[in-house]
Amino acid sequence: MKDNQTNILVLNCGSSSVKYQLIEISKEKVLARGVVERIGLEGSRLKHEAKKRKIIIEDHILDHDTAIDIIIKILLNDDFGVIKNINEIKAVGHRVVHGGEFFIKSSLITDDFMETLKECIPLAPLHNPANIMGITAIKKILPEVPQVGVFDTSFHQTMPEKAYIYPIPYEFYEKNRIRKYGFHGTSHRYVSRRAAEFLKIKYETLKIITVHLGNGASIAAIDKGKSIDTSMGYTPLEGLVMGTRSGDIDPAIPMILARDFRMNPASVDSLLNKKSGVLGISGISSDMRDLEEKALKNDKRAKLALDIYSYRLKKYIGSYIAAMGGVNIIVFTAGIGENSDYIREKTLEGLEFFGIKLDKKKNKGLRGKEADISSPDSKVKILVIPTNEELVIARDTRDIIISLKNK
Ligand code: ADP
Repeated sequence: MKDNQTNILVLNCGSSSVKYQLIEISKEKVLARGVVERIGLEGSRLKHEAKKRKIIIEDHILDHDTAIDIIIKILLNDDFGVIKNINEIKAVGHRVVHGGEFFIKSSLITDDFMETLKECIPLAPLHNPANIMGITAIKKILPEVPQVGVFDTSFHQTMPEKAYIYPIPYEFYEKNRIRKYGFHGTSHRYVSRRAAEFLKIKYETLKIITVHLGNGASIAAIDKGKSIDTSMGYTPLEGLVMGTRSGDIDPAIPMILARDFRMNPASVDSLLNKKSGVLGISGISSDMRDLEEKALKNDKRAKLALDIYSYRLKKYIGSYIAAMGGVNIIVFTAGIGENSDYIREKTLEGLEFFGIKLDKKKNKGLRGKEADISSPDSKVKILVIPTNEELVIARDTRDIIISLKNK
């Protein structure tokens, strides 16, 4: 390894998976990437990609300790590895889902950090424990290596009270911290900054709406570099229609499902998180590609799902223009935002009144690359910017370890 090379391992630990990338940060180059899937389940395996080669290793991967161990071993492997010595990993950056009101920025992982993160478990009972397992596993294998937590929630901690307090009795906020937090913060932060760089305009002067459309979807209003509102809430269920999540519905519906349909909280949770959204409407799929294909063949419910998806997204864009008193840039990102010309066109249709004019030719067929798709006379710039959450995590980790060295 050359002296000026700094390899940062980026981890995204879920309850049954660990995604990883090893990034050489001075050149921002991904050396290796992969995922351990089905941890603790039958059929667990590692999918690894490095040096333009891919490998799948099936193994009994019982827990996160074993998963991390396997990742480190493959990174050191003679054939598929990219490092010779474990010391070549200089830091580890973790995607952490929920930082509550405690973490307003990415932070070095210390004992205090871990104590505070544990306090955030009730806010993300499925996700935060997996993050904690990943951090603990790294501590065992690489005890001297600094670790950094980068939160999905922290970018939205700049929202004003009027955006994050729910109109329910105030004591639920005071005592239980029930409020809007918002998610996908790393992605909204990355694509909004990148949009300003792309157009060579000072970030802090802009009003930007970022539209993150993956399996989960959210939209954010970013005024002068600060998130002032976002569509996901206390949980990722609020807001836009998603692949399998309902997004906004009449809040009485869960109560009615429980009372009149005798559903328990777990079934209501599963109905709204896993069986709703475009899957629930279409009865076909949660995958936008399947729905677009069916809609082209005139499948009524696939068409309806796409109509509802883009109609509700359009209304959110309108409301965020109102919230900011204008908009300079609208950015589309993540699987659907980066790839679906159909959804982008359908969403922006009818917004010409606001000075938003899509260049349909530039939009058509544009997939997965940075581009300006607004027509030359559009007052508002419309951009596609592929998101890169791992790079943000690696950069934040680098910045924190540099600041440690300078202390
Ligand atoms: P995740 O939230 O799991 O990271 P992604 O950002 O990968 O999700 O987005 C997944 C979504 O992107 C799926 O609905 C998929 O159908 C959609 N998608 C990917 N490629 C295309 C495409 N070419 N056209 C339309 N939708 C696409």
